[in-house]
Amino acid sequence: MLQVAINGYGTIGKRVADAVRQQPDMEVLGVAKTRPNFEAETAIDKGFSLYAAVEEREHLFEEAGLEIAGPVEDLVDEADVVVDATPSGIGAQNKELYEEYDTPALYQGGEDADLVDVSFNARSNFAEAADADHVRVVSCNTTGLSRVIAPLRETYGVEKVRATLVRRGGDPGQTDRGPINDILPNPVTIPSHHGPDVETIFDDLDIDTLGMKVPATQMHMHSLNVTLEEEVDAADVRELFEDESRLFLIPERMNIDGSGKLKEYALDAGRPRGDLWENCIWEESISTVGTDLYLFQGIHQESDVVPENVDAIRAITGSADAEESIETTNEALGIGL
Ligand code: NAD
Repeated sequence: MLQVAINGYGTIGKRVADAVRQQPDMEVLGVAKTRPNFEAETAIDKGFSLYAAVEEREHLFEEAGLEIAGPVEDLVDEADVVVDATPSGIGAQNKELYEEYDTPALYQGGEDADLVDVSFNARSNFAEAADADHVRVVSCNTTGLSRVIAPLRETYGVEKVRATLVRRGGDPGQTDRGPINDILPNPVTIPSHHGPDVETIFDDLDIDTLGMKVPATQMHMHSLNVTLEEEVDAADVRELFEDESRLFLIPERMNIDGSGKLKEYALDAGRPRGDLWENCIWEESISTVGTDLYLFQGIHQESDVVPENVDAIRAITGSADAEESIETTNEALGIGL
């Protein structure tokens, strides 16, 4: 059993902890937190050992009646791998800690690509993480784009990708984010940083991205145009995507017209926290004009990177190959709507 430490138990960390717990070949050694907030309470309720991420704040947990198993250093020392899910930039500060205890580490998309040996997407470059000590699971948007681009590149060849990312202003719990009544070009400069991030996954990919932010919290929406190296029927692309376990093609008959109904569907289907681990592609939107492919996809920012983190744990520890890992993760979580 792989012993996994989770440092940073927020939106991503708590989901990764639950997902790791469901796997047959790994367990959560403990989770580290900075504050005794509601997430610390539920971590204890779920039976996770709680470690203090910041020594000087340990007394706050004691005062709140939450038992601390030890300092984060102990957790990192004993773990086979640590998943750092701290806010952007904190992962970089923590790298020294992981190096000190010689524990391989996964970071999230908020960290810079040059912090790590490899940027990771399970479908696209799993094997590259095998000899790495520091691996970055790319952001929600980069994960969503990579999952679509990988099969298209392999099957038809990709000449150029253009994507407009309509991004949620903040996660549902991020009450300090916005806009609340505006539509922002964000970043206003073109191309946005998302394209170069996708290029950390694929060698010699030509991609330009544009970003916007809107008053929504549930999901991102991508409008995607991929120029392929050959003319392809939309029906063939649909068939290609049907075989991809982390692409969900929303059938017309479901009457799902946006991210609100998608989230409702996830909740009705009994998904934990209403999570949608798959890219949600509107099947009717998949269209081709000559060599140009178009589609709309919804990306659930809080959860699409979760199965990727689980796979990255196996990749960095060399405990499974891509196919085996993706299959195990999918089965344990129930991926595939
Ligand atoms: P979050 O703020 O919800 O959670 C981060 C947690 O880390 C919080 O509980 C915070 O208290 C804790 N923390 C802060 N400093 C710490 C420290 N020094 N040691 C340990 N814990 C510490 O953030 P998040 O949304 O889960 O994002 C985490 C990472 O995942 C970021 O790199 C982010 O860019 C990336 N990411 C976020 C999303 C998203 O939409 N939320 C999607 C994909 C990737």
